[in-house]
Amino acid sequence: MKIKFLGSPEIVGRAAILVNSEGKNIILDYGVEMSKPPKLPISFPPRDLNGLILTHAHLDHIGASPYLYVSWGMPLYITRPTLELADVLIKDFLKLSGEYLPYEYIDFTYMSQNAEFVEYRKEFNVPGTDFRVEFRDAGHIPGSAQVIISANGKRILYTSDINTYETRLQKPADVNFDEEFDMVIIESTYGYKDHPKRSSLEKAFVEKVKEVIEDKGTVLVPAFAVARSQEILLVLRSRGFDGKIVMDGMALEVTEILLRNRGYLKSPNSLKKAFGRVKKVRRWRERKRVVKENCVIIAPAGMLGGGAAVFYISKLYKDPKNGIFLVGYQAPGTPGRTLLEEGVVQVSDVTGKTKAKKYYFEFSSHTDRSGLKGVLSQLSGDPVIAIVHGEEEGRMGVKELAEELGFRTYLPSTGDMYAFD
Ligand SMILES: [Zn+2]
Ligand SMILES: [Zn+2]
Repeated sequence: MKIKFLGSPEIVGRAAILVNSEGKNIILDYGVEMSKPPKLPISFPPRDLNGLILTHAHLDHIGASPYLYVSWGMPLYITRPTLELADVLIKDFLKLSGEYLPYEYIDFTYMSQNAEFVEYRKEFNVPGTDFRVEFRDAGHIPGSAQVIISANGKRILYTSDINTYETRLQKPADVNFDEEFDMVIIESTYGYKDHPKRSSLEKAFVEKVKEVIEDKGTVLVPAFAVARSQEILLVLRSRGFDGKIVMDGMALEVTEILLRNRGYLKSPNSLKKAFGRVKKVRRWRERKRVVKENCVIIAPAGMLGGGAAVFYISKLYKDPKNGIFLVGYQAPGTPGRTLLEEGVVQVSDVTGKTKAKKYYFEFSSHTDRSGLKGVLSQLSGDPVIAIVHGEEEGRMGVKELAEELGFRTYLPSTGDMYAFD
């Protein structure tokens, strides 16, 4: 068995891994780096592929996948929510970056027609090969999977993006592995630090939101449409926030998808109930009205790079009564990062120092240093630990953890290949 890293294992983004055994090939994830223009993985002839596996719907894992279907068909192994979410995210991606992408929506449609839905903990065989594959819940976003793949006497685990902590939306990752692995390909996004405790984070967040609302202000929560928007809604309601909550745009579409895939949620009824009470905004007339109200507005995009959040912030930032709550990672170069670091709002044609209060609460969907240590500690056998999906400090953090536990480590770069003997 050989493993080739077609993406960028040295950054958070562009996940793509080729697994080869006895002349047969499978690709695990085929994502993009979210640069301008987006960067695609190393290409591989689709005709030589026996299957594609997509672990979850984030663009850094799926953004280039339709390209593999432009001229060829092969089975796509995916969970149902991942495919449904991918539809929304790929459409949006094409709208924003279509000019740079080597595929069109029709290619995504063709890819979808090749989909075979996979459930967690149900092993299957990839036809025409000796690959056996099993998905395990990754706890990262609904539908997300870790992949166990075995062939020719070797077994590897690819954690993909993983969250070992329970959230309001989801159960933690399923990391009870009885089997021994020859290689574990593990993410390392937060390999260098621990997150604040979830319960204190939630408590502080809801208290601050309540303060702004009691001061008669408007709260804007720019949030990723997938998982974060719904998590924020659930946190507010389960911690007794009783005021008006508005949800906008793609977050609505995503919530509807999640409610159709109940089995992938921790408590579908809580989400259904909370979503039932939400004021759903899809039109400009309604946006202009709610932005003047004493309410909480949850709107994508999470880093203020587009979406309705851009409109809302341009209307809210000048009034000190209002509050802007950033609730996720803010990538360098995004308007969210500029707001966080400099207190300056810089969106479309608006630039100015914010007078509204700004807050940062790090709700993460990735596990942290302790969580990664927990995963490594309970691995049996003698796998080599391949460390991917992290910046330098994250990868070095996991390397240190793994070596303390006595494992061999491997830090691949783009294009590197690992061959088992
Ligand atoms: Zn992800
Ligand atoms: Zn990722």
